[in-house]
Amino acid sequence: MTSQAEMSKLDRRLFVGAALSLALPGTARAQAIATARVGDAALQILSDGSISTPITQLVRDVQPDVLRAALAEAGPVVAANQNALNVPVLALGREVVMFDCGAGRNFLPSTGRLPQAAEGAGLDPAAVTQVLFTHAHPDHLWGALDDFDTPAYPNATYHIAEAEWAFWTAADVFARLPEERHAFAAGAQRVLKALEPQLNRFRPGAEIVPGITAIDTAGHSPGHVSYAVAAASDNLMILGDVFTHRHLSFRHPEWATAFDQDPERASATRRQLADRLAQERTLVATYHLPGGGLGRVERAGTAYRFVPAA
Ligand SMILES: [Zn+2]
Repeated sequence: MTSQAEMSKLDRRLFVGAALSLALPGTARAQAIATARVGDAALQILSDGSISTPITQLVRDVQPDVLRAALAEAGPVVAANQNALNVPVLALGREVVMFDCGAGRNFLPSTGRLPQAAEGAGLDPAAVTQVLFTHAHPDHLWGALDDFDTPAYPNATYHIAEAEWAFWTAADVFARLPEERHAFAAGAQRVLKALEPQLNRFRPGAEIVPGITAIDTAGHSPGHVSYAVAAASDNLMILGDVFTHRHLSFRHPEWATAFDQDPERASATRRQLADRLAQERTLVATYHLPGGGLGRVERAGTAYRFVPAA
């Protein structure tokens, strides 16, 4: 028979347990590097770590002194060439949507932190219902598999643009890429094959999840897409790698980075989209910008500037 003392101990334990679970969401919010409300949806930005990009790869075909001057104009904080890896997770209606998956542990020692960030944010991988890729570069794709090379989000449907899938899985992809990009292709083939049973391929313009439409932003990669999110009366755009530098991508949208596969198309996409975003004042989520990468694009003279969300 349970004594009175034991009962009260049990009660207290239950109470403490309940209090702990009530406290968790507060702790969890601290683990996301940025959050925002978008209409009736909740956005969290989780970090997969960061990548240090050599200054020579920030842009291509720009004289070093011109580049140095442009960076100096931005100031020391912005000039840092530390690339964040910001993974947006959106709770929209019944869906939990993750945009890109980080680089995983096989890429660099400074990446692969997403699982811990998700745990800290109270996000169970099994609860993710949709994963939407912007493109198949390693820092966006490779984290889609866990340590056992099985899908890290077991219940999710994964989505990738048909053109992106076709480019990376083509038999002749190695012949079409410089040697230093062959690891990108080998990795993309490995990950996309492992995801195949859960992978949906789409064309830009398609509504992937109710309220989320893919738009063609090719250039950085052959099938790069961004995602326009409409939630109640509010909007959000998930941009992947259209803009990769806090200052240069906006001040000089015409400058391609070393990672833009089609430099002219990437530059044209950047300018067109910056123009549209500045006009619409849309909240944007960028993958590599500091502080979580949330903000808005404004016109500045003949170019643009990025204004981080407060
Ligand atoms: Zn990237």
